[in-house]
Amino acid sequence: MSARRAVTGCHHQRQGATVWIASTAYAHWLLLSHCPPVIRYGGASYEAACTKSSILSSAACTGRRATAKPASAPPAPPAGACAGRGIRFLMAELPRRTAVPTIERLAFTGLEYVMPPEKAFGMSRAVGNRRMGGLVEIVTDQGVTGTGEAFGDPRVTSAYFQMIEPLFRGRSIYDFDHVEAGIRNRMYHLGAQNQLTACLSGINLALHDAIGRTHGVRACDLIGGCGTDRLPVYASTGFFSKDPTNQLEHQLAVVKAHPYAGAKIKIGRGPADDAARCRLAREMLGDDALLIVDVNGNYTVDLALACIRAIERYDIHWLEEPLPPADLRGYAELRVRSPIPLAAGEAHYTLRDFRQLIEGRCVDIVQPSIPTVGGLTEAKRIAVMAQAANLRVSPHAWGGAVGLAAALHLVASQPAHPHGDNIPYPTLVEYDMSDNPLRTRLLRTPLALEEGHLLLPPGPGLGVTLDPAVVAQYRVE
Ligand SMILES: [Mg+2]
Repeated sequence: MSARRAVTGCHHQRQGATVWIASTAYAHWLLLSHCPPVIRYGGASYEAACTKSSILSSAACTGRRATAKPASAPPAPPAGACAGRGIRFLMAELPRRTAVPTIERLAFTGLEYVMPPEKAFGMSRAVGNRRMGGLVEIVTDQGVTGTGEAFGDPRVTSAYFQMIEPLFRGRSIYDFDHVEAGIRNRMYHLGAQNQLTACLSGINLALHDAIGRTHGVRACDLIGGCGTDRLPVYASTGFFSKDPTNQLEHQLAVVKAHPYAGAKIKIGRGPADDAARCRLAREMLGDDALLIVDVNGNYTVDLALACIRAIERYDIHWLEEPLPPADLRGYAELRVRSPIPLAAGEAHYTLRDFRQLIEGRCVDIVQPSIPTVGGLTEAKRIAVMAQAANLRVSPHAWGGAVGLAAALHLVASQPAHPHGDNIPYPTLVEYDMSDNPLRTRLLRTPLALEEGHLLLPPGPGLGVTLDPAVVAQYRVE
């Protein structure tokens, strides 16, 4: 059953006929919303029909005879010519559209793992002792449950969730774009670089999970098909740590025990320190491993150039976030001068941010974070835009197990580009090696890791099932 939206149509008499008028933009919204409006007229309600041709053309149209309901309502206006720039809505009894599952319930669960302060770890800007995130659960009117993940502080996400949850409840499970557009367009003061987008990401992922489970297909099947079910990963490690027993050397020793494609380490405290860390990493990992470094936006262009000169000799696969996310001009300038490929995206939100990164030729590798950027829908748009610009994509995956599963589905759905039989470097998925039970313990069946590859979960939707006891253990209000 479709959701309905009550609107009031305006009408006037023209050449003896009653015509319903709305702006072209509004008519487009009606068409795209898949939501037959109800027009109040003469104390009765009518469903309004608008056809694609009547919307796309302002030409005169003839209409079907309207049928009023209930029977005691005033006579329906006769069909007549539609003149001017208005769009006429023909009042008619519409056949109910094909039943689609609707969202019956949504719920948000905040999660937090707090480690002892002396175990705090992190990156160039700061270290911390908390891992957090949120889960969105959707139940359809057919009893199907979908789960998604929202990045970031759950206390903030929860507030946004309370605000937008009623707008999704009762809507078709396929209507995400329309509900999101309504939120974005009406609440435009909120902007997009915040937990609202993370919250929408969680809902979008939960819907992909629910849609996949409804049809018995994987989430990647919904966004382009599954090109592979073995996804190569790089170890995300080499953190700055307060723990003297968990310094760079120890962290790299753990990585070395596994056949990962490579490792990413944190740098960004200064060029000399950067060089020392890269030298140690290259010595420990050997010449064949890919070495990635991450500044987390702690440099200006001049410092980034000094860093690049200091570490270039260590064969760096990419330099991640050398500059703050807003310094797009700096990125474009640096990219022209850097012999090391640049990557960014974990602190960019929505396709609009990424359009600037991509069209500005700011980076070589685009890194959408799926539980941050707007979900699989938005991440796929970004990946396609990057492909059209002939740039590489490697999703950022720093959070919980559900978000990591989503990253696998995105990469599985994306054809290797522009490669044919020879692929110089596979698309890599980030694999967080830090202490994080929200990644390692949250699922009944953990994501399988096999010879440096994460395996795409075989089940429908995102293919993951939460362990309720673990969720309860880390739940936070
Ligand atoms: Mg990073």
